Amino acid sequence: MAILKFDTPIQFIKGVGPKLGDRFKDHGVFTVQDLLEWYPRAYEDRRAARSIASLKPDELVSLRAEVVAVKSYTLGKSRRKVYDLIVRDETGRIHCKFFRVPYKGYFERFKPLSKVRVIGKVTHYRGQIEFHHPDLQDDAPDTVTDDDIVVPIYPETEGVTNRQLRKLIGFVLDELRKTIAASPGDFEKLDKLPRWVLEEALLPSRFEALDKVHRPPKDATLEFAELKSPFHRRLIFEEFFWLELWLASRKEGMAREPGLPFEKKLEAATKLKQSLPFALTKAQLRTFDEIVKDLSGHTPAKPMHRLVQGDVGSGKTLVALMSALVAIENGYQVALMVPTEILAEQHYRTAKKLLEPLGIQVGLFTGSIKTAERAQAQALLDRGEIQFAVGTHALIEDAVVFKNLGLVIIDEQHRFGVHQRAKLKNKGQKVAATKGSKKTAEIEISPHFLIMTATPIPRTLAMTVYGDLDVSVIDELPVGRSPIQTRVGYESHRDKMLNFVKAQIEKGRQAYFVYPLVEESEKIDLKNAMTEFETLKEKFPEFRLGLLHGRMKPDEKEQVMRSFRDGEFQILVATTVIEVGVDVPNANIIVIEHSERFGLSQLHQLRGRVGRGEHKSFCLLMLGRAVSEEARDRVRVMEETTDGFVISERDLEIRGPGEFLGSRQSGLPGFKLANIVRDVRILQESRDAAFKIFQRDPKLSSIEHRPLRDELLRAHGLTSLASIG
Ligand code: ADP
Ligand code: MG
Repeated sequence: MAILKFDTPIQFIKGVGPKLGDRFKDHGVFTVQDLLEWYPRAYEDRRAARSIASLKPDELVSLRAEVVAVKSYTLGKSRRKVYDLIVRDETGRIHCKFFRVPYKGYFERFKPLSKVRVIGKVTHYRGQIEFHHPDLQDDAPDTVTDDDIVVPIYPETEGVTNRQLRKLIGFVLDELRKTIAASPGDFEKLDKLPRWVLEEALLPSRFEALDKVHRPPKDATLEFAELKSPFHRRLIFEEFFWLELWLASRKEGMAREPGLPFEKKLEAATKLKQSLPFALTKAQLRTFDEIVKDLSGHTPAKPMHRLVQGDVGSGKTLVALMSALVAIENGYQVALMVPTEILAEQHYRTAKKLLEPLGIQVGLFTGSIKTAERAQAQALLDRGEIQFAVGTHALIEDAVVFKNLGLVIIDEQHRFGVHQRAKLKNKGQKVAATKGSKKTAEIEISPHFLIMTATPIPRTLAMTVYGDLDVSVIDELPVGRSPIQTRVGYESHRDKMLNFVKAQIEKGRQAYFVYPLVEESEKIDLKNAMTEFETLKEKFPEFRLGLLHGRMKPDEKEQVMRSFRDGEFQILVATTVIEVGVDVPNANIIVIEHSERFGLSQLHQLRGRVGRGEHKSFCLLMLGRAVSEEARDRVRVMEETTDGFVISERDLEIRGPGEFLGSRQSGLPGFKLANIVRDVRILQESRDAAFKIFQRDPKLSSIEHRPLRDELLRAHGLTSLASIG
């Protein structure tokens, strides 16, 4: 057999036929390297083997047992399908429940009387203990010998068992060790991390780490089983490292880019400030100062890339408008991009109200504006007559051309991908660069960027997703806001809740009712906006109700929103379309039905629709029937705190980064072993290392750092790095 290397295709490994090869490929495993990155997701510590009678809630245990039966049934009202594998040993029986099947045919191999190992956390449920989604291993003689006491458990997929994986990976590691012995020099190159980085962080080599992670040492400790060994740390460090190195290179690169030199012109912004019926908060003023410094405080000028984080209702819009005025006073245009049409229209109205008196032309750009009108607005923009353009992603269409775009503001950034930022950047200036008196090339001067987000991104995530930005935090709410009172309610509280809403409306207030679905669904038994709109109309014949959901035409939506804002509707029945930004200060109650169906950060956003005016506000979180204790406890977090940062940290812990942001949307790479929540210390270490590398060697030109540069270019399909030129 040929020499095995990291890049050897999977089908060339001895023992992998075309069939198994294809199966691996279905899961993105094409090479030896990919196979080695099929990491164990847990370890079974056979020293911890227990008897069923001795189990206590919340322990992580492994036990040997015999299959009694596999049953499946549906669970009460929720109609969830449950698979129940019952096992026993000499001391008792226990149920292993699965609420989804790992893969089709998974349970077929667990015939009655067959021997299994069950590894998992003991769960306490309705007065008895059981396992939920434990790992099940065939307990037959295999590649594991009796003196192997810590055994890797791989995420199984159809047709690839743990036993196969252990054998195959073991073989590959042995072969690789031979390759290394034959030519150590070549192999060293495969470890791209600079030696000084590994030494400073006390990390083993990549091969050593891979070997141990797949074949735990005999003296492996509990630390190892919890994926906290130096070997795990090494691999996790590297996963973070490539991302952080990329961010560091971007930050370096941006710092060197030429920017538009603005003068510190604050006349218009000051006028705006003075026209307001309230004073700006200290945090708003500080953030504005930071922005002004970015725009006008650098020689030579460089583009601003600033993220403004501020909880819902902290008043980000005003900071954005004041910043826009600085750009406009300098003779440039400003684009404000938002994720929804409702929000675009709302910002458009606010901007018109506040900026037109200062003699500034405001334009609206959304997908639903009619062709003729749109063409007209585009012409005005092209000629520079529209100075402030508000819109949705319609703003990044090719047909939209600016005369001289100087500042881009992106609101509710978490709803956009990274790529939209790049597209707007390209709408910036093209300026002829000169060398002496000779024109050399057209260079692009990037507009300044101001990015705003109300989903308080947990610090850990901010470090990764927004790691290349400067950050301002508006950590203060305008005075006079009383905290929103939040209560979790059950079906039995429904009448009381409705009476409470009624009393508030009679005092002149308005209310939102939010539902997880637009209309009735056969698949899920949940309340929906359309049906409940009718129910509530019957319940409150004396009130006027509006209905708002994502399937309505844009102008219908706008009409309903306007009526609600103008007080013509007292109740707005809606889906989560109202989640971002909607601002109706007179609305002081939000009722969220099936609150267990929403993420905490989403509930926080929804709750942010109230508490925006002087009235005491209320958020009533209704739970569906048959909600698990776990889901209920999760929703209860909302009663404990109104701090968006705390909530988002909790949300991230509970749901994990993928669910929290959606990895495609966030631009986060899918980590194989690393976990942003669990491994935050390692993340910080690798970030420090990445930035230190750029400090020492900004062009990554030393022999030691060249592989880093090559890898960055390869991974991002570039011919040169921004920072390197
Ligand atoms: P968000 O940060 O959620 O985008 P907005 O910019 O929509 O918040 O502001 C929420 C509400 O608070 C708006 O009605 C706005 O006019 C008002 N507001 C903003 N700043 C202040 C302030 N300093 N004092 C009082 N009200 C303010
Ligand atoms: Mg806002």
